[in-house]
Amino acid sequence: MTNHYELSLVIPVFNEQDNLRKLMQEIDSALEPLAISYEVIFVDDGSTDASLAVLKELSATYTKARYISFEQNRGQSAAFCAGFDEARAPRVATMDADLQNDPADLPAMLRLYNEGHQMIIGWRMKRRDVWIKRIASKIANAIRNRLTRESVKDTGCSLKIMDTEMVRAIPRFNGMHRFLPTLMKMQGASVAEVKVNHRARHQGESKYGTIDRAIAGSYDLFGVRWIQSRHFSYKVKERSEDNS
Ligand code: UDP
Ligand code: MG
Repeated sequence: MTNHYELSLVIPVFNEQDNLRKLMQEIDSALEPLAISYEVIFVDDGSTDASLAVLKELSATYTKARYISFEQNRGQSAAFCAGFDEARAPRVATMDADLQNDPADLPAMLRLYNEGHQMIIGWRMKRRDVWIKRIASKIANAIRNRLTRESVKDTGCSLKIMDTEMVRAIPRFNGMHRFLPTLMKMQGASVAEVKVNHRARHQGESKYGTIDRAIAGSYDLFGVRWIQSRHFSYKVKERSEDNS
């Protein structure tokens, strides 16, 4: 089959059985009017509920939907990366499976992307999370921005569109999904932000504790700072002819 996809959606799923059908419907209604060819790649990160059964049902119902399923829970970064490897389109869109992100934001993000950026990142202006999470996220953003010398409003927003080749080339580690703007810039990406809708979790529970996430995020920050400080890029001036 020739590769004709214009957009691959990558969606990590860990115990989201009651969100997936509605999510697929929302994606369908948001993207169908655009008349672009897209695929939806659900990455089941070792769910222990009925998520996998629902994903099987969805991939049988919607030709655009497919899934891969991990043997065990490996975390959101691993799930994203597995999806990036599976993607068949030159650009990938990422979002959470719990309906906190709104697929209706995708068309505007795509328009901005097509103006010449390699990454569009959502900014959840009105976060619909508990206060502790909102404050923790504000502090984390501020510290992250200071140390990585960025000014990204909301690195933690999963709703993003990225150049597939670039995002495949960034360093991979547990927690990397919180640093995608910095890592993508190191690949030479032009990054733009756009205000997006944010909703309360539809069903199920958050997979993260505020304190645990703050500790993991701070630890990773030093790694990212180090990678950033040791980063190099080069441009080839010329090369010899291929003699083979
Ligand atoms: N997720 C995952 N593996 C994990 C933890 C989370 O695939 O180990 C998925 C989860 O199913 C959801 C997304 O990552 O689609 C974000 O998780 P969650 O909504 O719990 O995070 P929060 O919105 O509370 O920060
Ligand atoms: Mg969530």
